Amino acid sequence: MTNTESKTAPRRTRQRAAVSTVMATLDEFRTAQEVHAKLRDAGDPIGLATVYRTLAQMAEAGEVDCIRTPDGQSAYRRCSSGHHHHLICRYCGRAVEITPTSFETWANQVAAENGFTQIDHELELYGRCANCALAR
Ligand SMILES: [Zn+2]
Ligand SMILES: [Zn+2]
Ligand SMILES: [Zn+2]
Repeated sequence: MTNTESKTAPRRTRQRAAVSTVMATLDEFRTAQEVHAKLRDAGDPIGLATVYRTLAQMAEAGEVDCIRTPDGQSAYRRCSSGHHHHLICRYCGRAVEITPTSFETWANQVAAENGFTQIDHELELYGRCANCALAR
């Protein structure tokens, strides 16, 4: 049997399910390489390119959040669905979801004062978490 067409879709679904399962267990932002390493450690033969593509698709579908780390990499995390920002540990990737209400008010106000609508914004705070402070 060399029917590759009918094999492709179920395989893709399985890979997406595997990545999704790993993301559900992580509380930290992780890069595609790190998620890939976790899958390989668990015995999954999934390829790095597939993990990259799957995470990008999941981010587009709103299933995971994607941020750009200070060193320019994309990192992913499964978050709650409402509007929020992140307080991120630059050492271990641990993330806390935050909603700075005064920032939201300020952003909308500045936009309105300048006649801007359809405002989109990004705000991530980076620092060192309590666990990492203890470890160093
Ligand atoms: Zn988030
Ligand atoms: Zn940390
Ligand atoms: Zn906001």
